[in-house]
Amino acid sequence: MPDTPRNEQTLAAPAAAESPPPLVWANVLMFALSFAGALILVPWYGLTHGFSPAAWAACVLLAGANGMAVTAGYHRLWAHRTYDAHWSLRLLYLFFGTMALQNSVFAWCSGHRTHHLHVDDVDRDPYSARRGFWFSHIGWMLREYASGRPDFSNIPDLKRDPMLAFQHRYYVPLAVALNIGLPLLLGILSHDVWGMLILAGVLRLVWSHHITFFINSLAHMWGSRPYTDENTARDNPVIAVVTYGEGYHNFHHIFAHDYRNGVRWWQWDPTKWLIAGLQVVGLTRRLKRTPVFQIQRALLAMQFTRARERLASNRHAGRSHLEQLRARVAHEYESFLAALADWSRVKDQWLGEKKRAVSEHWEQLQLQARLREIERRLSRQLRRMRILQAQLA
Ligand SMILES: [Zn+2]
Ligand SMILES: [Zn+2]
Repeated sequence: MPDTPRNEQTLAAPAAAESPPPLVWANVLMFALSFAGALILVPWYGLTHGFSPAAWAACVLLAGANGMAVTAGYHRLWAHRTYDAHWSLRLLYLFFGTMALQNSVFAWCSGHRTHHLHVDDVDRDPYSARRGFWFSHIGWMLREYASGRPDFSNIPDLKRDPMLAFQHRYYVPLAVALNIGLPLLLGILSHDVWGMLILAGVLRLVWSHHITFFINSLAHMWGSRPYTDENTARDNPVIAVVTYGEGYHNFHHIFAHDYRNGVRWWQWDPTKWLIAGLQVVGLTRRLKRTPVFQIQRALLAMQFTRARERLASNRHAGRSHLEQLRARVAHEYESFLAALADWSRVKDQWLGEKKRAVSEHWEQLQLQARLREIERRLSRQLRRMRILQAQLA
């Protein structure tokens, strides 16, 4: 993939304002040929020869392994360092992540960290959704855009990892060997060489590519923004189902250090279940979670923003009804601010107690209980605000 443009000549010679940057032919050909291959070869071979169950099984399992290696490995482990992983797990991520053909960990994570830092900036976000669906989905990899210029100064931690340096150095031969060699080997073993090459090779690659690309395109366009409206990232359970949980992108952009994207226990996020499950057997550790209070504060702040917008634009409700709703929102907002003040006071007290070695354990427990109580207060308020929001709609 995503051989992100690395031609240094273009850096020295800026293109004329009107003409688009030069094409990255390796990427154009790879995306076009694999897409055409999947579109033509799969139905043709399926109708004329038929595929073996082994080829279908390999296609589905490898697509899953590629996808999860990108979401759990490239994204949540290396780009955001949301947990630590045993070397054997990192090796597996590298194996299947290389096969996903989305460039080396260095290039992927460097671009992704820039995406978070400059999200939506048309000049600096490498896949800014403000430049449209096509650009954020795949277009950004097809030309040598200035916004996609590789700059590894934001991955000093990754550059120290010899395993990642090896993958970056030998990326092309490794990626070719895994994309052609592995399906070929599986085809020989299952006596279905062509079927395996077409399904586990081509179809698997195209499917896993576009699934990942949807996170940069659709997940910045389609869905809700419950945590923040400061960027285009959306929460969308439908996208989450096909992207192994990455569809909860609004949460992810505000709390990128959290190993979960679907933060509620019922939200479909197989990547978080994998990471948490592997903790039980000791393969992952130090999983980072956003404190409940911070999540509630973000949710409520958005509720108040929405309520104010609705109050300002509501033309249907009668004047006195509107005044009544406005007063209720103002009252809720006051109690929200009071809860925030209480929280920081109790938290300071608790941190102070923790520092004092003489402090009694029960005192700390009491303070913790008070913090939990404030969280419950905020939960109740969140429910009230949702009801109020419905009345404002
Ligand atoms: Zn994003
Ligand atoms: Zn991210």
